[in-house]
Amino acid sequence: MATGRDEGLDVKIGLEVHVQLTALKTKLFCGCSANYRGMPPNTLTCPICLGHPGTLPVLNRKAVEHAMMVALALNSSISRQMIFFRKNYFYVDLPKNFQISQYDKAGGVPLSTGGWVEFAVNGEKKKVRIRRIQLEEDPARLTYPGTITTSSYTLVDFNRAGVALLEIVTEPDMETPEEAYFFLQKLRSIVEHLGVSSENMQGSMRCDANISIKGGARVEIKNISSFRDVRRALQYEIIRQKQLLRRGGAAKQETRHWDEDRQITVSLRVKETESDYRYFPEPDLVPVKISEEWISEVASKMPELPDDRRERFTSDYGIPEYDATVLTSNKKIADFFEECCKLYPNPKKVANWIMSDLLRNINETGIDVAEMSITAEQFIDLLKMIDEELISGKIAKRVLREAIRTGRSPRKVVEDEGLLKISDEKMIAKIVDEVFHEFEGAVADAKRDRKAVNFLVGQVMRKTRGRADPEITNKVILSKLEEK
Ligand SMILES: [Zn+2]
Repeated sequence: MATGRDEGLDVKIGLEVHVQLTALKTKLFCGCSANYRGMPPNTLTCPICLGHPGTLPVLNRKAVEHAMMVALALNSSISRQMIFFRKNYFYVDLPKNFQISQYDKAGGVPLSTGGWVEFAVNGEKKKVRIRRIQLEEDPARLTYPGTITTSSYTLVDFNRAGVALLEIVTEPDMETPEEAYFFLQKLRSIVEHLGVSSENMQGSMRCDANISIKGGARVEIKNISSFRDVRRALQYEIIRQKQLLRRGGAAKQETRHWDEDRQITVSLRVKETESDYRYFPEPDLVPVKISEEWISEVASKMPELPDDRRERFTSDYGIPEYDATVLTSNKKIADFFEECCKLYPNPKKVANWIMSDLLRNINETGIDVAEMSITAEQFIDLLKMIDEELISGKIAKRVLREAIRTGRSPRKVVEDEGLLKISDEKMIAKIVDEVFHEFEGAVADAKRDRKAVNFLVGQVMRKTRGRADPEITNKVILSKLEEK
């Protein structure tokens, strides 16, 4: 199988993923509601998250626990004492002019260091190392009317300022945009299984990617909002940097912005170096002690993770490991599969239909799995309609595509579009007569050569838009040929 690697280019991709801890009720350092989505701008704020002088942050204990769960799930080693740092920069999304974050140098200790994520890329196993995981506050949300490059002004919403964010930094272990894509899918599946972050919430997982080619400078691509765009942005950067190399140039170290509308990366600024941020320990927060007991307590409450669930799917449902890997790469799909299996006794058939038709149609229509409206009951109803010979398998595929595209239930699609299978022999005989009348030459051929029978069957299918029962059609045609 093609690896998709560009041989000789020595592509190195690392990711910095920001995961919002959306299951928390309050922000990281104050009591303001963290549930800002759909709320009027600048209504969920207080003196602490607005950075008023004289206010003091108070750490949200639950946020540390949720962060610890992610660290444990990524095999990362949790620090026994973590320290918050100030990352200083002046920007409109930051009322204090610094972000309370963590740092792994100058005496800084992040939440955890090391670890790995293992995932499958086109059936091959891949392992990406984690460098560190840190806990920090989300800056305010900026809106650029139009696009970031053309907008003449910026709107700021401080509702998001101070929401708990995990920064997960990988080593530059990925070699293709595909690998980055599948890494992110696996990571999302893990945080969803942990119940600490939900895919349903737009912007709950954001990603910066860094990429270097042939030992050239590292280019950072900022603010990519979807996994598909991570893949596209990286593909674009590889082509751009390859062209630079071909012309004898090289990529310079810089930060580029992914322009979603134009599907290109654009230069934003020459990248700051770490010293520009003047990191120093946050004097308003004491170092946080994390005891063995606390870690074991959190570990004992860990829910089932995608890898364990994959094992269970192969043993409980008897499906192949490949199927189980695909199904558990998304929590909603894994839940959907299990619900379906409760309603229908053939797990392999359910898995096939989910993997080939459901997921393919979802990808093609560009709908996110989180927005998929079809229920397990409706999906199983479709499979039962095939079993009861009300529709053919071929029609069922068409019905499912239509159901996903329009949000109607499969049964409704079948009813609305009159797609029930025609099994009535008399009705089929009538259509066969019409076909015989139209294609007299083919009828004569069919009497001598059985291959021509298939042509006649095909014509009946064409007239009934695939709804005629093929076996009955075949039988009727053969008996009518005998009579001739
Ligand atoms: Zn607040």
